[in-house]
Amino acid sequence: MTFSVTILGSGSAVPTPDRFPTSQFVSCNSRNILIDCGEGTQFQMRRYGIKIQSLQLILISHLHGDHFFGLVGLLSTMHLLGRNSGLTIIGPTGLEQIIRSQLEIGYSKLDFDITFVALKKGDVACVFEDKVLEIHTFPLNHKVPTHGYLIKEKQGDLKMNKEKVIEFEIPLSVIHQLKAGNDFLDDNGKFWKYKEFTLPAKKSRSYAFCSDTKFDERLIENIEGATVLYHEATFIEKDKNRANKTFHSTAKEAAEIAKKSKVQQLIMGHLSARYKNDVEHVYEAKQVFENSIYASDGITIEVGNQ
Ligand SMILES: [Zn+2]
Ligand SMILES: [Zn+2]
Repeated sequence: MTFSVTILGSGSAVPTPDRFPTSQFVSCNSRNILIDCGEGTQFQMRRYGIKIQSLQLILISHLHGDHFFGLVGLLSTMHLLGRNSGLTIIGPTGLEQIIRSQLEIGYSKLDFDITFVALKKGDVACVFEDKVLEIHTFPLNHKVPTHGYLIKEKQGDLKMNKEKVIEFEIPLSVIHQLKAGNDFLDDNGKFWKYKEFTLPAKKSRSYAFCSDTKFDERLIENIEGATVLYHEATFIEKDKNRANKTFHSTAKEAAEIAKKSKVQQLIMGHLSARYKNDVEHVYEAKQVFENSIYASDGITIEVGNQ
């Protein structure tokens, strides 16, 4: 099953020619999710071959413009392209009012329904769940109420012990029951204990999204053990005071959170326009956490193997 993240925008609030503001496309077991929607997100989706109509869910972290100014444009395009299937948008309280006002004042009516899920400052909750994944939110430490997200695939079925399948010539109908973790008595009076024939399920993969935030170890309990962590790294150490004042992080701080959270990989982003490139960010992060990369627009990262 696929689980990947495509970076649509890796810059911060001030525009640069190379980096769009924050937006990411997450594909998780055939669910298509957009996280944040900075200005120009729909152009980036077109550029990188992501179907606008494929989105089922949009998560917005906070109401700074570089994280949602592209939303009303994207919704209008969905309408123009003939969308009629519903869309869920999860984000801070106030987002619904902004979007509905933008549409209403312009006499725009969409041919599809939007379900808004409003988050309150400090919410820690499971905000979405279906058969294949669940999404949790938790607070970040920023100037305005800001929500991090953890997208986690559901634990799959148990794996069959192949040797035993052959040895006992286990029929398919029995395999289905055992993989689902059921002990049962078959029509011939044989009692099957699933633990005797199965191996543990594969560990479920997860993706944690933390932008924007200052360094805050309280994040760790919500993202611990994630497969991949995205953590903003707007600044480098020499500008640490500025990072603190503006409620952002340095690359080293992002790496410290990654290390303490025992994640497998760190992706940094939200590069300040004051830097020509991300070389120093990567250097400083790797001193603390080796498996660190800096996002650039258009790259796709696999969450775990396969
Ligand atoms: Zn931002
Ligand atoms: Zn912000």
